Amino acid sequence: MKALVKHTPKKGIWMEDVDVPQYGVNDVKIKITHTAICGTDMHIYEWDDWAQKNLNLPLTIGHEFCGIIDEIGSAVTQYKVGDRVSGEGHLTCHHCRNCRAGKQHLCHRTFGIGIHRNGAFAEYLVIPESNVWPIHKEIPSEIASFFDPFGNAVHTALTYNLTGEDVLISGAGPIGIMAAAICKFSGTRNVVITDINEYRLKLALKLGATKAINPTKENLEDAFEELGINHGFDIGLEMSGNANAFNQMIDNMYNGGNIALLGLLPDSTKINWNNVIFKGLNIKGIYGREMFDTWYKMTQMMRSGLSISEVLTHRYKIDDFDKAFEILKSGNCGKVVLEW
Ligand code: NAD
Ligand code: ZN
Repeated sequence: MKALVKHTPKKGIWMEDVDVPQYGVNDVKIKITHTAICGTDMHIYEWDDWAQKNLNLPLTIGHEFCGIIDEIGSAVTQYKVGDRVSGEGHLTCHHCRNCRAGKQHLCHRTFGIGIHRNGAFAEYLVIPESNVWPIHKEIPSEIASFFDPFGNAVHTALTYNLTGEDVLISGAGPIGIMAAAICKFSGTRNVVITDINEYRLKLALKLGATKAINPTKENLEDAFEELGINHGFDIGLEMSGNANAFNQMIDNMYNGGNIALLGLLPDSTKINWNNVIFKGLNIKGIYGREMFDTWYKMTQMMRSGLSISEVLTHRYKIDDFDKAFEILKSGNCGKVVLEW
């Protein structure tokens, strides 16, 4: 079968002919129809320090996908051939303290598809039945293909009660933009989003941000009067992975505010701890998606009218994968989807 493989430790990704994966009794084999590119795939493509430290080659990459079940193992009970599905890319142990407590996203023995084992950028993907998520008939496959990052946005945004609150999102990448849509849908008062990329700021406004600010051109505080924000933001969603953006967030939080940290900050990040302490801020790290409460919320919010379709800005046929990686690298895009 065709698969996008990282086979050599240098920049790039290559279309290869590889063996179709075998499936076990508890697995489903999915014929992939759509995949989406994540920042992680970009790190692998570029072969940066993180990729060099964490990957064993050769590896079929990718973890954002939608497809149709092609075959099922003999012990599979909940799905049948022909079902349209996506799935959770974190394969957990089911035995550790967190797994047994229903907190599988905090499993300490997690394996990631497309990172620790072969992934979804291929004609076929095999995952355990327990990782499959059924796609409701109202949801298009191209949107379902990026349920994984949509889930990051849902998990982060719904960490705190958003109703009536003033929310600051730092980083208008695909996840920040989807978070803006979720905040609006969930009844926030103001959703202010920051980025240094004008294309993405414009896109965030389309998806429901109240105000989009480029911190290199405008001060956040200057928007307070216009938006009727008295002392600062009640909730902060850090989705840039940028230290300056995180510091700006801390500076602009109201006392007692809540921050959810999704963006992966560099080790060198310094923050003003006095601000955290004297303002009594609450900071929570967010990893992945809650299995499977986040997935449930994703589906039901979409079925209740939440629209994220405009975050999908570029579609390519799989043979044009190079163009897709190029556009993602440029930053002038939302989600980029590959059709198989
Ligand atoms: P992305 O890289 O597409 O988006 C980050 C955005 O931040 C970019 O648009 C960039 O221009 C912007 N940015 C850079 N400097 C900024 C600044 N000073 N102020 C405001 N914005 C700034 O990433 P994404 O795919 O949307 O993911 C968001 C973040 O979440 C990334 O850091 C990613 O690594 C992280 N992530 C974490 C998890 C998790 O489980 N914790 C999962 C997925 C992604
Ligand atoms: Zn576990």
